[in-house]
Amino acid sequence: MKKILPLFILPLIFQSSQALAWGDDGHKIVATVAWNFMTPTAKAQVKAILENNKDALTDNNFVDVAPWADKYRDAGRPDGAAYKGTREWHFIDTPLATSEDDEAILDAEAKICPYVPKLEGVASVGAPANDCVVNKIEQFANELKNPDTTKEEKVFALKFIVHFVGDMHQPFHAVDDNDHGGNCVWVKSDHSIYPITLHSYWDGQLVRNLEHTLRPEDYGYILAKRTEHMNYSEWTKGYTRDWAAESFKLAKDVGYKLNVEKLPTCANENKNAPIELAKDYDKEADAVAEKQLQKAGVRLAAILNAALK
Ligand SMILES: [Zn+2]
Repeated sequence: MKKILPLFILPLIFQSSQALAWGDDGHKIVATVAWNFMTPTAKAQVKAILENNKDALTDNNFVDVAPWADKYRDAGRPDGAAYKGTREWHFIDTPLATSEDDEAILDAEAKICPYVPKLEGVASVGAPANDCVVNKIEQFANELKNPDTTKEEKVFALKFIVHFVGDMHQPFHAVDDNDHGGNCVWVKSDHSIYPITLHSYWDGQLVRNLEHTLRPEDYGYILAKRTEHMNYSEWTKGYTRDWAAESFKLAKDVGYKLNVEKLPTCANENKNAPIELAKDYDKEADAVAEKQLQKAGVRLAAILNAALK
């Protein structure tokens, strides 16, 4: 892991995060927060697992491998096995029309993604492509726990889990409105010159708003220190399906609150007439994004602390 800079140096850093892929930053922030809450044993095991990582898609440390699963998927485009076999693992498409009742959301999740927390005798990598993020987190956590898992599979399990816990906390990875999770809804905000999709606004623009000029590692460090002062123990109650339900509600309550009569869908994209985001939308969304990054970090740490004892 990169050395984390002491706080007093932070104002001197002017490296723009614009040069970095935005999606990467959110994942690196989550990993940085998680590292702060991990036990010495879990950290030592993570380092030992990554010693067997032969992949050159990212640098080889806990924070830098956090965006790896996107790069692995994208390297397989358009029809390679890495793309076709893993792209659906990054999200769960709970229909936006689902009511906000917890039981209704869990029912909808079960329909979209039947519960398969463990693959008996089969490695999770190479397992069916039509699975979703909540199952994959559980499957990879079980693999990390299991002493019989091969070294190679453990590397995959670790790199996927670090990424997927982050993905699941981005509200638009837990919802769908026939718009590919906000990918066919175009918006414009004060922060963007050009229209962007609602999905990428949440993936990247909000993260950039939070980071200002800081690198993800440095903003993540500040966020981790701030999290320590919060009452975060509540956050680790429940498990992946409950946390995805929470993301779904945030998408419904905040993400899709666009004050339009009819939301665009992929059959009816609005690229030429982007929805102008209200000022209070930005503010509310920033606050949600920050808390989701904190929760993802704390929960990722809890999963790894339990799996790597
Ligand atoms: Zn992803």
